[in-house]
Amino acid sequence: MNHFDYRDGTLHAEAVPLAEIAARVGTPFYCYSTATLEHHFRVFAAALATAGLDATVCFALKANPNIAVVRTLAALGAGADVVSEGELRQALAAGVPPARIVFSGVGKTRHELEFAVAKGILQINVESEPELLALSEIAAARGVRMPIALRVNPDVDAGTHAKITTGTKENKFGIEWTRAHEVYRRARDLPGVEVVGVACHIGSQLTDLEPFRAAFLRVRDLVAILKADGFAIRRLDLGGGLGVPYDDGTEPPPHPDDYARVIATTLGDLGCRIVVEPGRLLVGNAGVLVSRVVYLKEGATRTFVIIDAAMNDLVRPAMYEAYHHILPVREADPQAPCALKDVVGPVCETGDTFARQRPLPPLASGDLLAMCTAGAYGAAMSSSYNSRPLVPEVLVKGDRFAIVRARPTYEEMRAFESLPDWL
Ligand SMILES: *Cc1c(COP(=O)(O)O)cnc(C)c1O
Repeated sequence: MNHFDYRDGTLHAEAVPLAEIAARVGTPFYCYSTATLEHHFRVFAAALATAGLDATVCFALKANPNIAVVRTLAALGAGADVVSEGELRQALAAGVPPARIVFSGVGKTRHELEFAVAKGILQINVESEPELLALSEIAAARGVRMPIALRVNPDVDAGTHAKITTGTKENKFGIEWTRAHEVYRRARDLPGVEVVGVACHIGSQLTDLEPFRAAFLRVRDLVAILKADGFAIRRLDLGGGLGVPYDDGTEPPPHPDDYARVIATTLGDLGCRIVVEPGRLLVGNAGVLVSRVVYLKEGATRTFVIIDAAMNDLVRPAMYEAYHHILPVREADPQAPCALKDVVGPVCETGDTFARQRPLPPLASGDLLAMCTAGAYGAAMSSSYNSRPLVPEVLVKGDRFAIVRARPTYEEMRAFESLPDWL
């Protein structure tokens, strides 16, 4: 469900024609829909409430850390899941209260831990024994006991792309669940931490509920062991990972209602507060990447649509073989024949390809294309590879739009570089 639709033959974000934004901002740019962000948050929160869960929804900032996006969600009551000091600062700047911020990640530095402890956030999800010891030392030196969960690795294969599976033994994430009890015991004796919960996150873009169920049952077993050993486990952080439809012809992922029911049936009777960390689910379908056709090139065997967006703006196809549905901003004549085309960017790498042999209507140089479901891990993963300016971001609300991250000038891009005195 999203608010990008054709009106009068041209693609709109809510009530704003994408062509109007393109004329003002230039291409390429990301465009986000406030109504879609709000809809996704409300549907997800309602699913958890309907399943009878006492739940906190902490938006995983890494999917889309734009301050306006985070503030839109925070205004609805979202907390934040952050994985770096930068994201923690971003969440605070966007107005997320510290009491709703969870800090995850395998490699938090001492400096990052100090910052998080000083800010008094809700919880730190500890991913290793060395981190546990470092955190205890840091918090004890400040005279506080930091609330923690240990992130356990339930050794469940999420059945998703290898680069976004995080919950098997071979992954770097979390503490092996078979060793978890031992590490919890160690935590109990440390002066600077207070064990409050168990955390897990098994991967991203899951399209099947069974891996969630298997992981949550392992969490349940662990909670039983810990409670029997006297631990007051009161919070369960179940991570994110629920997939979104990319309109690629495969079966759509489960509805949040069904996901919430899996949580309720596996963990609902434990009397714990549930924390969930959705990223993609909240923002994926709330964003499109709009770009312009530069050239059409007839190759020996195929037609190339060369656009002004590239892999540095949206890396998902190059990195995960991800599919993005592509819509012409000017609605195609339904009678016009579709032909197979490759949609490519200008970067000198074969991976700079957005679609291969995609049926598309007739296109001309200057036409605008929208790459759908680009709100998650799009702008967030963009770079200035090829000395291309970072792609700007626009937020729409009703009939209004605002630039929420500007395209830098070439001078600004160079501002952090300097020549050493011998040159
Ligand atoms: C990436 C990540 C998330 C969010 O994953 P989505 O698939 O975007 O929902 C949540 N929690 C942790 C710890 C993560 O690393």
